[in-house]
Amino acid sequence: MASFAIIGAGISGLACGKALADAGHQVALSDKGRGPGGRMSTRRVDTPLGQAYFDHGAQFFTQRNPDFQKTIAALETQGAVAMWRGTFVRMDRDGQFQTLGDEPRYVGTPGMNGLVRGLATGLNPAWGKRVRALSGQKGAWHLQFETGETLGPYDQVICAVPAEQVSDLLAAHTRPISEQARAIRSLPCWAGLIAFDAPLALDWDMARFDAHPVLDVISSSVSKPGRTGPATYVVHAHPAWSAAQLEESADQISVALFEALAELAGPLPKPLVQAAHRWRYARVETSHGPGYLYDEGQGIGACGDWLSGPRVESAWLSGHHLGRALSA
Ligand SMILES: Cc1cc2nc3c(=O)[nH]c(=O)nc-3n(C[C@H](O)[C@H](O)[C@H](O)COP(=O)(O)OP(=O)(O)OC[C@H]3O[C@@H](n4cnc5c(N)ncnc54)[C@H](O)[C@@H]3O)c2cc1C
Repeated sequence: MASFAIIGAGISGLACGKALADAGHQVALSDKGRGPGGRMSTRRVDTPLGQAYFDHGAQFFTQRNPDFQKTIAALETQGAVAMWRGTFVRMDRDGQFQTLGDEPRYVGTPGMNGLVRGLATGLNPAWGKRVRALSGQKGAWHLQFETGETLGPYDQVICAVPAEQVSDLLAAHTRPISEQARAIRSLPCWAGLIAFDAPLALDWDMARFDAHPVLDVISSSVSKPGRTGPATYVVHAHPAWSAAQLEESADQISVALFEALAELAGPLPKPLVQAAHRWRYARVETSHGPGYLYDEGQGIGACGDWLSGPRVESAWLSGHHLGRALSA
């Protein structure tokens, strides 16, 4: 039995941790977030009509791999995941709405982070713990946290964070992994979070935009399973627009994205919530990678969507395959 420290308890870190724990290894997960989610987070905002839930990162996921399907089926039984039976469209270059394919789409319940919360059960990640650096060597790694605390020793370390953060953590310890991470570019995404006391009169629940100067995706929570509280809308801005406005204030962006929604949906009522969230590293530009990386000499591995493709299922597969390979 070996001990593994996993930095990052998003879906890839948890998938890796589960595979290692199932094989009898000791696993210690730490995440800088205050709670489960990573890029599948759900933000809750108090309103006079109850809490508004915003899935401000991933909107849904699909499942194609049999191992992932098995995991999702178990979480569905526990009520952590359900199918989203919405109407999905895309707006083409001529401004016409076309229906999107009918591959089943799933969401976490009661918010998107329900999936990550379900996966974390039994693994007990330490939340609110940002790793600042590592020190040591294979067989005796220590993690240094932002708080000044040091934990260890661990036999091996897994880095399950976005590529840009991998190179910061691992540059001094593993050239093969940090150089690959440095070559990756993630695109940003501004997300507008808007809630009303009643649903808007839209013919769809989620729309993608092929050629809009501002908009990438708009999603409504109204038809997502298990959601309560006010009608919420998440407006994801186009990556190029997000990059051009990256350092603007969240207040300014929330106004711009509210106006973009109004242009599409017609005059809007006064919102209960109008906010914005900046995803600095939202989705990797390139979608093909080796799946995961492992530096055997150093006992350091890396997993995440930057190695497998910018989708929830791909991120899970990256962690799962790394965990399985290290257990073998
Ligand atoms: C706006 C947006 C929309 C998306 N839409 C979809 C969609 O509709 N469908 C889909 O399939 N996918 C979508 N995705 C992609 C999907 O969310 C990601 O591919 C997936 O969640 C990545 O998981 P991960 O575990 O690789 O990374 P993350 O979820 O980013 O997890 C990494 C974790 O590491 C933690 N961390 C980082 N640095 C440190 C540190 N120093 N110390 C400790 N912890 C640290 C973070 O807090 C985080 O929890 C979307 C993503 C975004 C941002």
